[in-house]
Amino acid sequence: MNIAVVGTGYVGLVSGACFASLGNKVVCVDVDERKIAMLKKGKSPIYEPGLEELVRENIRKKTITFSTDLKSATRKAEVIFIAVGTPPKPNGDADLSYIEDVARTIAREVNGYKVIVEKSTVPVQTGEKIRDTMRLFAPKGAQFDVASNPEFLREGSAVSDFMNPDRVILGVESARAKKVLIELYKPLKSRILVTDIKSAEIIKHASNSFLAMKISFINAIARVCDAAKADVELVSLGMGLDSRIGKSFLSPGIGFGGFCFPKDLAAFIRICEKLGYDFDLLRAVERINEEQKRYFVKRIEEVLWNINQKTIAVLGLAFKPNTDDMRYAPSLDIVAALQAQGARIRAYDPHAMDNAKKLMKNVVFCRDAYEACKGADCAIVVTEWGEFKQLDLKRVKKLLTQPTIVDGRNIYDPKKMKALGFRYASIGRS
Ligand code: NAD
Repeated sequence: MNIAVVGTGYVGLVSGACFASLGNKVVCVDVDERKIAMLKKGKSPIYEPGLEELVRENIRKKTITFSTDLKSATRKAEVIFIAVGTPPKPNGDADLSYIEDVARTIAREVNGYKVIVEKSTVPVQTGEKIRDTMRLFAPKGAQFDVASNPEFLREGSAVSDFMNPDRVILGVESARAKKVLIELYKPLKSRILVTDIKSAEIIKHASNSFLAMKISFINAIARVCDAAKADVELVSLGMGLDSRIGKSFLSPGIGFGGFCFPKDLAAFIRICEKLGYDFDLLRAVERINEEQKRYFVKRIEEVLWNINQKTIAVLGLAFKPNTDDMRYAPSLDIVAALQAQGARIRAYDPHAMDNAKKLMKNVVFCRDAYEACKGADCAIVVTEWGEFKQLDLKRVKKLLTQPTIVDGRNIYDPKKMKALGFRYASIGRS
């Protein structure tokens, strides 16, 4: 199939490259000329395992191209995926202006039957808005369908998630669009659930809100465990062994961040409010998440006594491992809170430092974890990158001026840390 993917970010680029490798002809479109220029040279503007290789392979096979020209891409495509950003407004609403922009441009270029698919995460009823906009701006008699196909890939394993999804959700309102999209997804051999558009839109927001709720739940349990001197890791294991609960998303830590959970949760709360339902359960999820970042800073303070004038080595900045994404990363709030108390920050992240440099001030960015720890009063684990689990802790101990680690991701064993002579604090295991 001839496919256009509009928005060449984490979702659009991964979707485009994967659709191309499934045998389609794909053009990836973006307004960002720098991104498109890089991609034309086979360079990925984002770090995502396996993505650059996939892009290069498809450039070689001529199954993928990159362009800033949405009009021409629309005319050539049968299926157009909208994967542009839907960032939060200050009041939590999703900003849908990029979606509207794209829908208008596409509408004017409709020159035969097309399926316009919302892949971005959008509030329920956005499909109707896209359809209305299309009708308003498309030439008379233009043939098209709007569909919803929310994306569930996770940054850090996006290519593999796209190719092996737990399910594909197709929100459609015509048999023709359904046929086209089922055909497109058939090679993935995954379970396909066909719904109406509005239900598909809610499935995405409800899923992300539910996962965020699991994280806040276990973080709240961690607080209880700290107070009661129990072990949250054992509690989590014991809960997760119940197949009705499941083990995933029950790892305590410093709270969730990233481009999806915080904004999708806020947007869903606002959507429900507008629909006349006060989803106060989700407000509590948000509140617990904000508190968790402050709690981590408090843990550091408890261990260090005074933060003022102390040097802190921050291990990990990205919102999670295997990504360079710094959007809404908890590290931003945590570093700012420590700096506000007078801490000097030395930081290291395997892939996110270029992005972090644009967002953080007065931070010494280091070559590796050891350099970050050199002369620091304390190391804190903020992102659970695999390489931090493999650190030579004896070496780390020698480099720190005080053998102190505050672990926001529970990656080390408290008993081993004690045996090594560390002053060690973690989450929910005091
Ligand atoms: P992103 O910021 O990485 O990418 C969005 C891209 O859209 C940018 O490159 C931007 O330049 C481009 N863009 C903006 N306006 C445009 C226009 N008018 N025409 C063409 N391109 C335009 O965002 P992302 O992380 O890929 O997220 C995109 C959407 O997918 C969001 O709604 C997000 O919530 C959703 N989503 C994201 C993830 C994730 O893990 N990042 C997962 C599932 C769903």
